[in-house]
Amino acid sequence: MAAELRVARTDMAYDETPSQSWGRMREALRKDIGRDAFVNWIEPLEFLGPEGGIGRFVAPTSFVGTWVERNYADAVRSLLAENGMPVNRLEFSVNPVALDFKNRAAPVPARAADVAAPDSEVDLPNSPLDGRFTFENFVVGKPNELAHAAARRVAEGGAVTFNPLFLYGGVGLGKTHLMHAIAWEFRSSQPDARVLYLSAEQFMYRFVSALRFKDMHGFKEMFRSVDLLMVDDVQFIAGKDSTQDEFFHTFNALIDQQKQIVISADRAPGEIDGLEERIKSRLQWGLVVDLHPTDYELRLGILQAKAEAQSLQNPGVVIGPGVIEFLAHRISSNVRVLEGALTRLFAFASLVGREITLDMTQECLADILRASERKVTIDEIIRKVADHYTLRISDLLSARRARSVARPRQVAMYLAKMLTSRSLPEIGRKFGGRDHTTVIHAVRKVEELKLTDSQVAEDVELLRRMLEA
Ligand code: ADP
Ligand code: MG
Repeated sequence: MAAELRVARTDMAYDETPSQSWGRMREALRKDIGRDAFVNWIEPLEFLGPEGGIGRFVAPTSFVGTWVERNYADAVRSLLAENGMPVNRLEFSVNPVALDFKNRAAPVPARAADVAAPDSEVDLPNSPLDGRFTFENFVVGKPNELAHAAARRVAEGGAVTFNPLFLYGGVGLGKTHLMHAIAWEFRSSQPDARVLYLSAEQFMYRFVSALRFKDMHGFKEMFRSVDLLMVDDVQFIAGKDSTQDEFFHTFNALIDQQKQIVISADRAPGEIDGLEERIKSRLQWGLVVDLHPTDYELRLGILQAKAEAQSLQNPGVVIGPGVIEFLAHRISSNVRVLEGALTRLFAFASLVGREITLDMTQECLADILRASERKVTIDEIIRKVADHYTLRISDLLSARRARSVARPRQVAMYLAKMLTSRSLPEIGRKFGGRDHTTVIHAVRKVEELKLTDSQVAEDVELLRRMLEA
């Protein structure tokens, strides 16, 4: 071990301890990352040395270690490499007692060191916010107006009227956009407020590392000190029991303090499988709003806004008549796909130096157009049918045979057969693992009922129109 170290550390005084050489070389970082960051994150570290390709450090709290790892790992590694200590990665342990020996006369219990963490002064571990996701850039239409209005209200700050705000909807409908917009707005109107936006996945990541580094105290302090907490894609923690548990406590603590919480998920609270009942019901206490799939008008509005932005970036590219309308008609309800299509069109047009015509659009977007031809998914069908008959999705997929459930289930299977290109076995699987013969039976039954039962005929037509809109 010692020999290995010596060979590696060629340009270093041999009698220096790792801690002394670190003290000397870390100064280079002060310039690179700025004084404040240096004082907050680098100075508190103690270097134990490179060992088997790992740069080992002691951090005052796991939070500091995690932060350095996430933000400065590359800088620290290149610094070590420049000083003849190349390592593949960094590792941070938390050793409050050792630190206390250094900083104070007598060792104190580990807790005290945790409490001393500079939590309230440091930045919150926000996920990065996208600069384009502002209210200004959010196009409002019927399918999202309620969600937009609620988001605006929260962003204004002021008295907390509904808590939490729960936004849900399918992928690419603007949940994350609205949450970032709230964060931007809230921060600019109340610069002193502590706003924390993160994905549920990051919430879990922080929770797990707090457990691992025995820093639950720091974790709780941090989450409970915010004025506005936003957790995106909360369906992610379904089934992850201890994370849910902690989420629940954090949630309650903040609600009790009248701090605003905003949550998003891909479906309604009641429909997130694997989410504890008490959490589901608590989530429903506030305002639950869904972002509906886009309609033609909204798509048109979004495309117009995005085309304008694209034109600014690609001066000289002209978008021909009918193209925007064509796209609004033909591309599915997911805004992300719309954006991607437009970006590609503009890139292509500026490359070949031609106007964007309908022909070019069809050629350039053939794959996207093909993919969105089958734009109705079985999940959407299930959701719409459940909605229409005011049933729970779980009932629709259950084994219950009561007519009030069985009939809508057959209608849903019928629509799945008619509106998607899924095979019978695939449809059967989607409906709670049923056999393909059950699907055949359902299709026949509904075809028959459409002729004899006007209510069924009407329901099917209405649903078909809604799904194809
Ligand atoms: P989600 O989080 O619901 O999956 P996102 O918020 O990430 O969806 O939105 C996907 C993309 O579509 C983003 O680039 C976003 O800016 C854009 N987008 C969604 N809805 C709108 C809207 N109403 N106006 C403008 N852009 C939108
Ligand atoms: Mg999102």
